[in-house]
Amino acid sequence: MIAKRILLCVLFAGMLTGCRGPAEPHVYVSPAVQAADGTVHELPVSALYPLSEDTINIESAKEICAAAGTAYSIDALNAVRFGENIFGAGLASVVYFGKYAANLTAEEWKMLASVAADPAKYAPALTGNAVSGISPQAQYASRIPETAYFDAMTEQIVTDLTAAKKCTREEAFALLYSEGVTVETPFSPAMQKNVDAVYDNPASFAKETKSFPQSACAVTDHAGNVLAIAAGNQGNKAYNRAYRTLHSIGSSVKPLSVYAPAIAKRIISFSSIVEDAPLENAGRPDAYPQNYNGVYDGNITVTYALRQSKNTVPVRLVNALGGTECLAFLRQNCGFTTLTDQDSTASALAYGKFEEGVSMAELTAAYQIFGNGGTYYAPRFYTRVTDRDGNVLTERTDSGKQALEPADAWVMNRLLYYNISKDDGIAQAARLDDGSEVCGKTGTVGNGISSDTDRLFVGLTPEYCAAVWIGFDAKNAVIDKLEYKLPGEVWKQIMEGAERKTMTFTPNPDVIEAEFCTETGMLASADCPKKETGYYREGELPKSCNAH
Ligand SMILES: [Zn+2]
Repeated sequence: MIAKRILLCVLFAGMLTGCRGPAEPHVYVSPAVQAADGTVHELPVSALYPLSEDTINIESAKEICAAAGTAYSIDALNAVRFGENIFGAGLASVVYFGKYAANLTAEEWKMLASVAADPAKYAPALTGNAVSGISPQAQYASRIPETAYFDAMTEQIVTDLTAAKKCTREEAFALLYSEGVTVETPFSPAMQKNVDAVYDNPASFAKETKSFPQSACAVTDHAGNVLAIAAGNQGNKAYNRAYRTLHSIGSSVKPLSVYAPAIAKRIISFSSIVEDAPLENAGRPDAYPQNYNGVYDGNITVTYALRQSKNTVPVRLVNALGGTECLAFLRQNCGFTTLTDQDSTASALAYGKFEEGVSMAELTAAYQIFGNGGTYYAPRFYTRVTDRDGNVLTERTDSGKQALEPADAWVMNRLLYYNISKDDGIAQAARLDDGSEVCGKTGTVGNGISSDTDRLFVGLTPEYCAAVWIGFDAKNAVIDKLEYKLPGEVWKQIMEGAERKTMTFTPNPDVIEAEFCTETGMLASADCPKKETGYYREGELPKSCNAH
């Protein structure tokens, strides 16, 4: 699809050569966005003109939010719906009055508040008086499924441009929307279509009967390239829940915060014995930590602890590693940029209950280290932006960072594979019907099955990585009687609809497969009653079982 460029307003001549902001908006030309499959798209207008608090009249902004029936915040102001395709006071200002919100008169602010109160009634009248027209293509563009992806892409480009050109966000927007600009992006129209088919189908989320929760997901390859995202289900995409909204991630944090660093530091191996017992108040109802099903199994292997998503073992591992160390691993090796210093507690590191949370884009990026031999890539929504003369304005040429040694990454891969492939694994809902290997982990935030607020599944195939979140926009709203398998089922639908060519992950040559005794975690002898295959670095095999 080669879309026509959008002419929104007239650009100052000076804008084409430098990074100086115009006093009033003029011609903004949508850059040509080249997707991974060679198709060319245009940026939707709703990606334009987000406001920051230093450029608005706070009192007027509060009036608009109140009129729209929402509590005031800058994010809320940027999400207020003014018309069928127009979200955010910044865009509404340009569309209706042909000027930046900072230059609106008091009267014009009041008009925006009226529109926000009843868009159906007032928006059409205002549109008729608009100073700058928006092409029908552009109006449509803000409704196309790529909107959420392009929102994230634009945000990433503008942030990078602001740093590279040492300019303001407004100037960076103007530079991006200069004539002749081309954006190269890993966006996959085919994967997005597939994701949208799942998210726009109410049956995908129909397990829930009393309260219909929201959902979001991000899909990447194993090199940081974001292929598609879903910002919400059933067309509810007023918020970009995959990129701009942060979520607690429950037990899906465990492989990143404790198991990977503990494997890397040789505190545990694939099958070493760990204690599944409370640290405090054993035998009492308030025993700590609580396992999700209330069952404590005593001495168990690491693989069993992970695939049963035990809470006791991660808390012990946080104690062994140190909370500061675990938090540093999440920030430095797994690329989480939104964790706070308060997230060094066992509650955050063992249960994934964060102060602010993380985005699905960053969660997906973090899990790629288990699929690609331990290399971390930041989530990438674009690779290069060039101007009309082919000069590079900004680019993302992330060559990756070794977050885990390749052999350790393979041991983690096999641990996560057992979560799905073993019959006592907690994440069997994500098994693919064609038998392709799947690695992954579930996550739940809440206090037991009756008060869960967030549910997740993060999983990898040999080609893709995807994180699926289910919950509510209100942080403490409780998911009512939700099938715990739902995120895994949504993930499975996405993967079964994707074009997949590779069925198995590539083993690491420095890792040896060997049978271990499930009782002692040691190398199995002929007399051991139950055995499984374990994965160990060369020279680090356990001793032979001495109990059988
Ligand atoms: Zn044995």
